[in-house]
Formats: sequence, structure tokens, C-alpha cells
Amino acid sequence: MDVDVLVVGAGPAGSTTARFCAGEGIEVLMIDRRKEIGYPVQCGELMPHLDEMHTIFPAGETLEELFTVPSHVVQGESEHVELVSPGGRTYRCDFKSHTLDRRSFDKHLAKLAVDAGARLETGVSFLGLKDGVAETTMGPVNAKVVVGADGPNSRTAREAGLQNPVLRYPAVTCQAKGDFDPAVKMFFGGVAPGGYAWTIPKRGGANVGLGFDPKVFKGSPREAFDIFVRKLGCECENVTMGIVPMSGPVPSTVRGNVLLVGDAAGQTMATNGGGIPTAMIAGRIAGRTIREHLSGSCGLGEYETRWKTVMLAPLVTSVRTRRMADMVFGSDWLLSAAMFVLGRRGLDRAIRCKRPFF
Ligand SMILES: Cc1cc2nc3c(=O)[nH]c(=O)nc-3n(C[C@H](O)[C@H](O)[C@H](O)COP(=O)(O)OP(=O)(O)OC[C@H]3O[C@@H](n4cnc5c(N)ncnc54)[C@H](O)[C@@H]3O)c2cc1C
Repeated sequence: MDVDVLVVGAGPAGSTTARFCAGEGIEVLMIDRRKEIGYPVQCGELMPHLDEMHTIFPAGETLEELFTVPSHVVQGESEHVELVSPGGRTYRCDFKSHTLDRRSFDKHLAKLAVDAGARLETGVSFLGLKDGVAETTMGPVNAKVVVGADGPNSRTAREAGLQNPVLRYPAVTCQAKGDFDPAVKMFFGGVAPGGYAWTIPKRGGANVGLGFDPKVFKGSPREAFDIFVRKLGCECENVTMGIVPMSGPVPSTVRGNVLLVGDAAGQTMATNGGGIPTAMIAGRIAGRTIREHLSGSCGLGEYETRWKTVMLAPLVTSVRTRRMADMVFGSDWLLSAAMFVLGRRGLDRAIRCKRPFF
């Protein structure tokens, strides 16, 4: 099959890329190995409010085009994030966010891509690249541009000779029932060594989970998760595991006719593990650049220059902050002391990908 663009992966990165390059004569095929888009949910489902997005990515333009979230996918709103130190001290930061129903949200994004003219095939896997042609479980696909939006273990990246993110934190999440505090909570210390555990309130309960640094904690993710859930005393369903890339962007996101977007490109915020907003910001840039490239007005390499202009500084700052945090993450006492020194303002800046010391 011949297409202009093959997008591998229909998560936030792939669907947004497809949405912004499809139509007006550009044939886009988006494939996903999942039979159902957005399911299983491997996510805390927290999406910063549009105002926060402008603060984190001041160079991002018309972000409302991306982040005006339809009401049917919003399952909760929060005005605060509470960071709880290993010693139990709570730092309450003003931070507005939505809790998404990620299962519906990913479907909504895929629908926007289809409405723009992309063709979506589910239950189809990308297998490799052979002589420039993509091998998939629905047969070979000959594309002028291939987009690797296939998450942190991107096969597309490896097949194109690009790198996968080197630092990957295991994370476990579930849907918990019960009454939860209306603030988003992040718990640090032994409960999630080198990372954090969370309760993110949503309708009828909360998204509960944790992610940790595998260098600091050698146990199994499920073991750590079960201990946390027992402490909370809540009932859980749909427990899933995923990977959060924490090393920042991969060295190169374009090679030949292949470009990487979202987790495949390591575009997550290393101080909070959030990657939905960045996947979508990069996806829009990728889609627009591909469109221009196919009309002959720019090279694909322009994608890297453009996403870096908007996102590189906050992403690099968040990686540096995470590295600093690594120095104290091994000791609950040191971590509590560091959080005390930073105080609410410093922590507030860190979660917004700004330098914690100002
Ligand atoms: C437990 C956990 C909690 C998280 N919580 C949050 C949060 O609260 N807020 C936030 O902003 N971020 C969160 N993240 C990060 C966020 O989920 C990701 O950054 C985001 O999903 C990245 O989008 P993406 O489109 O790049 O990748 P994904 O959403 O992973 O989408 C990749 C898609 O590619 C498909 N795919 C993979 N390989 C192939 C293949 N070979 N062929 C075909 N299809 C393929 C997959 O099926 C998948 O649908 C969390 C991550 C984890 C693991």
C-alpha cells in the first residue's frame, strides 16, 4: 500500500500528528496495535489546566486549540497539588488540573484525526522497516514519511537507527473507588523510591498509582503498588503497568524520512512524569511540518528545530531538577530536608519545569 504518511501509534502523539497533517490531498494512515484505542489505561490521567500549560510552555502558541478538553472526557478538576514528604509534611501548591477519562480522551483525539481525513487501523502492528518500506501486520506500507509515535519502547525508532529513551521508570496505576481528597496528592519517599505515588481524584474515586526509579528500588512494581494501596485502604480495579521515560528528549528525533513524537522521542516532563501535553504539542508541530515538507517548502529536520524552540528549555530544566533530586532520593531524611529547604515555592516551580531555586 502507498500512503504519504504512516503514523505508528494512536496515542496523544500519533493522533495529534495525524490530525494536523491529514486532509487536503495528504493521505495519512495511522495504525495501532491495540484493538481499542486508549485501553488499557496506563496513565494517571492528570492534565494540567490550560493556564498552567501557558506557564510551563510560554513559547507555545494557541495552546487552546490543543487543550480545550471536551466535557465528556473530564472526570474531575483540582485547584491544588499536595506534595507529601517522607516525614509526612504536606506542601500545598496552587496548580489547576483536570482528571481525564483517558480511555475516552484517546478516542476523542483519534476521532479528531479521522475527522481531519486520516485513516485509522486498529489491531495492526508495525513490525519493522525493510528497504525503506514499513512492514506491518496488514502488509507492507510504502510511506513518504513515517512517524514513530509508538511510545517509550518505540520499535520505529530502533528500526530507523534512532535511540529509545535510556532512563525508564516502571509505573503502576489503577482505578480506585471511594472518597478521596479533592486535591491531587503526590507522596514521596520509601513508598515510591526515586519517584512518587499519587492519588488523583476523579468521579467516584481516584486514579491511584506510583512510579519509581529502578536504580533505587529493586523490588517489583506490583509489590510497591500493593503496599501503597494497602496503606490507603482502597479498592482497586484495572491495575496496569507502563513505562515513563525520564531521561529527557532522545538525542535526535529525525532521521531520513522517520520522525519521533511523544514518549518515543522522550518528550516527557521529568519532574512530574507528565507526557500528554508534550506529546500533543510536539504532535501538532510534527503534523504541520510534515504538511509543509510534502508541499516542498521545508525539510523534515525543521520539526526538531521547531519542537525544541517550544519545549526544550522546560524539558531540560526538568531533567536537571530530577538529577538534583536523585542525590537525595536515596534517603527519606535527606529528601524531607530538601523539600523543607525548597518549601512550597521551590516545589511549585519544580512541578512547573522551572528551576526550583530562583
Ligand atoms: C502509569 C503511568 C502514569 C502516567 N500518568 C500521566 C499523567 O497523569 N499525566 C500525563 O500527562 N502523563 C502521564 N503519563 C505519561 C503519558 O501516559 C505518556 O507520556 C503519553 O501517553 C505519551 O503519549 P504517546 O502518544 O507518545 O504514547 P502512548 O500514549 O504510549 O501511545 C503509543 C501508542 O503506540 C501503540 N504502539 C506501540 N507499539 C506499536 C507498534 N509496534 N505498532 C503499532 N502500534 C504500536 C500503543 O498501542 C499506543 O497506543 C503516565 C505514564 C504512565 C506509564
